[in-house]
Amino acid sequence: MMSESPQELDVLIIGGGVIGLCSAWYLQQRGYSVAIVDKGEIGQGSSAGNAGLIVPSHFVPLAAPGVVGQGLKWMFNPDSPFYIKPRANLDLIRWLWKFARASTQAHVERSMPLLLDMHLQSLALFEQLADENALDFGFEQNGVLMLYHSAVGEKECDELVEAAAHLDLQLGKLSAAAVSEKLPNLDLNIAGGAWLPQDAHLNPSRLIRVLSDGLKNAGVKIFTHTEVTELIVQNDQVAGVQTTKGGLFSREVVLAGGAWSANIARQLNLNIPLQAAKGYSLMAPSLAGKLNIPLLLAESKIALTPLQEGVRFAGTLEMAGIDLTINGRRVENIRRGASAYSPDLKISDQEMMNQKVWVGMRPLTPDGLPIIGRTSSFKNLTIATGHAMMGVSLAPITGKVVSEIIDGEKTSIRLDQLALERF
Ligand SMILES: Cc1cc2nc3c(=O)[nH]c(=O)nc-3n(C[C@H](O)[C@H](O)[C@H](O)COP(=O)(O)OP(=O)(O)OC[C@H]3O[C@@H](n4cnc5c(N)ncnc54)[C@H](O)[C@@H]3O)c2cc1C
Repeated sequence: MMSESPQELDVLIIGGGVIGLCSAWYLQQRGYSVAIVDKGEIGQGSSAGNAGLIVPSHFVPLAAPGVVGQGLKWMFNPDSPFYIKPRANLDLIRWLWKFARASTQAHVERSMPLLLDMHLQSLALFEQLADENALDFGFEQNGVLMLYHSAVGEKECDELVEAAAHLDLQLGKLSAAAVSEKLPNLDLNIAGGAWLPQDAHLNPSRLIRVLSDGLKNAGVKIFTHTEVTELIVQNDQVAGVQTTKGGLFSREVVLAGGAWSANIARQLNLNIPLQAAKGYSLMAPSLAGKLNIPLLLAESKIALTPLQEGVRFAGTLEMAGIDLTINGRRVENIRRGASAYSPDLKISDQEMMNQKVWVGMRPLTPDGLPIIGRTSSFKNLTIATGHAMMGVSLAPITGKVVSEIIDGEKTSIRLDQLALERF
């Protein structure tokens, strides 16, 4: 079927999630001929059904002091928002060991300015895509509210607000009454909240659609239902890939395979320390128009995003390998978890019956930072993965940086903290 020779194709991108699409976007803008190959539909990995939050407020990496202890407590509670499936898997054990070692205050302090810078640069690029490129992906920058109803949730909000102050990021704590003013359509049972004014949101499936339509119009070839089965190596370079539908060759290769990236890289004897972290989302069409600002619920770790078609409820972090099975109990917790904050925030039985639960796999690195950059072993291979719960938020800056790397230009962010070789 297909066969692209090196002269025809400059860059081949493995993975048609939000990271692969944004990489293609900035590469084609620089005049490169680009193709994307995906084993399924575009966006079907983790990129279409997530919460769609753009989150400068998420500047603290997942690997932070206290997270290991909290994780251990949650592990034994089937109703908690976090779960690691116990299994004798060497990769998981190594990953957990690296995670525990990375969870230091020094790592947090080193990572916060970088993550904030990446989110803010991404936000500006989203604005550009919406305004200058006139892409309609439901982009709205009207902040995010974090709500709490207990002392534990309040402590989390306090810590976030305090850490933000050190970075000159204005986040404010709000009384319950002040939260109510911002959410006039909801009855609330909360103790207070934090206001995250820089945060924004978008409709993830629309983002995927407008990006892939724009790319196709610009001549980018998108091969769906085409699985990469082998990477072809010649003289320290990845010359191309074998797929279920034939061979593809290119001068440069970008690996943006999300949670699958580690499996793909294994063929090159490259060890990418990634664990898949499963999450779910559900829609409440009856809440359309009721919520004007996205919510993050501090205790239950559920995100609620107002979309045109209703409110999306998203949550749960289950480390159980690459496994798309649905845990009904945890889905039910997402469905019901928001009603502790407001009796108005629930999904009816009818709405549950009418929908398919969405499952996504976040690609998690052991230090909570993505992996972006060339590898030392293959001159023409660029890796762009490991964005965990921030892949949408960090997609434009990642795509821009990938295009800068391939162009041999100075990158918009420093890459030393993001190199694969740090592990
Ligand atoms: C419940 C939930 C809520 C979330 N909410 C947010 C949020 O609010 N904000 C945010 O920024 N992030 C959020 N995220 C995280 C975000 O969804 C991910 O970080 C992001 O989608 C990762 O994008 P990606 O392109 O790296 O991976 P993916 O979207 O998973 O794309 C990887 C692609 O590679 C393809 N692929 C894999 N193997 C092969 C192969 N062998 N051959 C060809 N193709 C292959 C897959 O089919 C897939 O399409 C959320 C995630 C979840 C689960």
